[in-house]
Amino acid sequence: MKINRKKNFFAGPSVLPFEVLEQLQQSIVDFNEEGLSIIEASHRDQPFTDMYYECLALVRELMGIPENYYVFFLGGGATLQFSMVPMNYLKPNQVADYIKSGTWSSKAASDAEKLGKINYYFDGKESNYSTLPLASDVKPSVNSSYLYLCSNETTGGLEWKEWPDTKGVPLIADMSSDILSRPVPVDKFDLIFAGVQKNLGPAGATLVVLNKEMDSRQNPNLPSYLNYSEHAKGDGLSNTPPIFSIWAVKLVMEWIKRNGGAAGMEKRSAVKSAILYDTIDNSGGFYNNPVDVKYRSTMNVVFKLPSKELEKLFVEESKAEGMVGLNGHRSVGGLRASIYNSLPIEDVQYLAQFMEEFQRTKG
Ligand code: PMP
Repeated sequence: MKINRKKNFFAGPSVLPFEVLEQLQQSIVDFNEEGLSIIEASHRDQPFTDMYYECLALVRELMGIPENYYVFFLGGGATLQFSMVPMNYLKPNQVADYIKSGTWSSKAASDAEKLGKINYYFDGKESNYSTLPLASDVKPSVNSSYLYLCSNETTGGLEWKEWPDTKGVPLIADMSSDILSRPVPVDKFDLIFAGVQKNLGPAGATLVVLNKEMDSRQNPNLPSYLNYSEHAKGDGLSNTPPIFSIWAVKLVMEWIKRNGGAAGMEKRSAVKSAILYDTIDNSGGFYNNPVDVKYRSTMNVVFKLPSKELEKLFVEESKAEGMVGLNGHRSVGGLRASIYNSLPIEDVQYLAQFMEEFQRTKG
């Protein structure tokens, strides 16, 4: 069946590899000729557990996760992690350092504020969240329980390129919107989490990568679902996991592997983001990206037009051309093209041509 696929620039949930959608379709009724669907099998039984451990092994391989880290999936979205992090690791007599670089680190920080004492190592508010601190300058407070950052601000289109050395203070990162878009030195981090619904699969699961040493910092007085060590002990299977989402993640992992792994994704993202930033930079100011050039995101390219009317027209006309999801986050307006791993390069070229044509006729 020939499908006229939309060019999908949604920020999340977002585009999946077409091959993966086809694999899901083909196997949803009869998984590996088991005579049952994986979504109707027990999470304690072999069809699921085999698939699950293969998925975890692929995540380990593709992210280069060291042996001394746990890898598992949770429910509750990345948002649950905003409160789990301070509940588990913010000690009552200490502070947690937060780098406030935009919408998502701010949300995490405001949840943490309800649970303990927070220090804002950096607050990007003054620069309208257009820049980041220099990674080599970042130093946690003396009595810090952890330092928290968001590796890619999905709303503001701002991405860390280097990582702070926190010298023994745990480094915790929300990598929801750039996970596996590039190689990352996992051993610099003590906890990485990511909602899977951007680069890794359909909504439902949240990936957690946790240094085993964090067990020694675990708050023991938490209900079981909120306790990282409890989940880690059972490989994330202490309660029913989001099975469909995890199955799709496994297929996306195989797709990433076939396409050159994290390094392959980095190359694709560099090509795709350069197409759009070049179009913006060559527009003589018609399109404007407010982000410090050093920190421009390779995943979420934000831009403004000279007026709100033109922005509205841009969204309408791009939709008519089969492009969806180009309006900016509701909190900041403007336009945003999310160009996650599985978005084809041709779709980005198509958008760039549309932008040039739009400027030629409306500029
Ligand atoms: N962190 C980042 C960087 C995000 O982009 C998002 C969602 N867009 C979230 C956290 C929240 O994720 P969820 O909806 O899975 O709770």
